[in-house]
Amino acid sequence: MATGWGSLLQDEQQLEELARQAVDRALAEGVLLRTLQEPSSSDVVSYAPFTLFPSLVPSALLEQAYAVQMDFNMLVDAVSQNAAFLEQTLSSTIKRDNFTARLFNIYKQVLKEGIAQTVFLGLNRSDYMFQRNADGSPVLKQIEINTISASFGGLASRTPAVHRHVLNVLSKTKEAAKILSNNPSKGLAQGITKAWELYGSANALVLLIAQEKERNIFDQRAIENELLAKNIHVIRRRFEDVFEKGSLDQDRRLFMDGQEVAVVYFRDGYMPSQYSVQNWEARLLLERSCAIKCPDIATQLAGTKKVQQELSRMGVLEMLLPGQPETVARLRATFAGLYSLDMGEEGDQAITEALAAPSQFVLKPQREGGGNNLYGEEMVQALEHLKDSEERASYILMEKIEPEPFGNCLLRPGSPVRVVQCISELGIFGVYVRQGKTLVMNKHVGHLLRTKAIEHADGGVAAGVAVLDNPYPV
Ligand code: ADP
Ligand code: MG
Repeated sequence: MATGWGSLLQDEQQLEELARQAVDRALAEGVLLRTLQEPSSSDVVSYAPFTLFPSLVPSALLEQAYAVQMDFNMLVDAVSQNAAFLEQTLSSTIKRDNFTARLFNIYKQVLKEGIAQTVFLGLNRSDYMFQRNADGSPVLKQIEINTISASFGGLASRTPAVHRHVLNVLSKTKEAAKILSNNPSKGLAQGITKAWELYGSANALVLLIAQEKERNIFDQRAIENELLAKNIHVIRRRFEDVFEKGSLDQDRRLFMDGQEVAVVYFRDGYMPSQYSVQNWEARLLLERSCAIKCPDIATQLAGTKKVQQELSRMGVLEMLLPGQPETVARLRATFAGLYSLDMGEEGDQAITEALAAPSQFVLKPQREGGGNNLYGEEMVQALEHLKDSEERASYILMEKIEPEPFGNCLLRPGSPVRVVQCISELGIFGVYVRQGKTLVMNKHVGHLLRTKAIEHADGGVAAGVAVLDNPYPV
């Protein structure tokens, strides 16, 4: 069973019956999204799209991704503490990218005032694809690391039961038992709990910065539920609410509606469209406060594509993680080709290479949330346009990863059941807590497999392109 589920994918009638069973199980397990039509209400909900079958993932690559997660936690944390590196790395980008520049301004402002909190909480997700080597063997290559609002840890905790169900219906009990248990939301909540404890005020709350229209609320609720079970209360508020009702006392303690906040957990604030003038004010207030931020502004900046590209430069990992050659080697093994587009010879050469072989590159702006990258002809046009302008420094170039496609069914409300050619992206959730100079927690807490049809170059589950999946280790 090297490439997939073989003959099971040929019996259309059976696929339809399996899909009905799978969808009902998904609904029963809570693999849910609010609808596009009613994104602010839970009155009518549907299932989050998912694959009918778990997709095959080489065990060795899964293990490698887990093994390098603590290294990535350390690396992100190191970058976030290195003001000189952040400043130098982002200097060309912030001249041309207004969003990164505004984040950077807040960063400078809090540095100048002095950071009010000594505890830092990181909840991230490092994403990978399986590059097909020249000899056909798959290699783990990082796509990016998400340091803010890394999502689907909650829903990913519920999908294993769905895929086990499908395999059990087929009397494939041995195969069903191979689907890994997964509970990222529990681990993410452990990180928040640790931070909340270190804040040290029994009545203080967790403030979840939420969007007005949130289809993915059940994913977030999974974490909230874990916290409430430990008697830690979560309030959901928008940036607008913080602007109106948030305040700091003379010790920069954060209060929301008169209640003290221990931890601020951002599930908003990673895209320009999410910030009005007032929302920027609210973000600054949160950053200035002594509440523990997840992430703090420096850690958000550490997750930019520009930082990712600079990390791949010779000697940078060694500078950030001195005396840790094994850690550096594990990290570097997952790096794809990443190229600066800053003005100068190096950037010129990268552009020449990308124009000569467009199918081998991706052009990325400093954006999160999917749908922003440029490929193929669109990339060529953008590069021609940007070539002689300093604006190009707000982008990076990346080697395009080409995984081996396989067949699976992507189940979506309202769509027919059919087999399509797919590729997967594996994410590993990481959690760390630092108190002063000491990492008091550093772990991996689970995975997320997302799968999409090969015709889509970009985009995740929230963007409606990828669907939830589980690795079937082989
Ligand atoms: P975002 O921050 O918007 O999620 P990503 O870097 O994760 O940006 O890119 C979005 C999607 O584009 C990824 O989920 C992946 O499907 C695709 N993608 C990104 N980089 C590459 C790459 N180097 N090779 C192939 N596909 C890529
Ligand atoms: Mg991404």
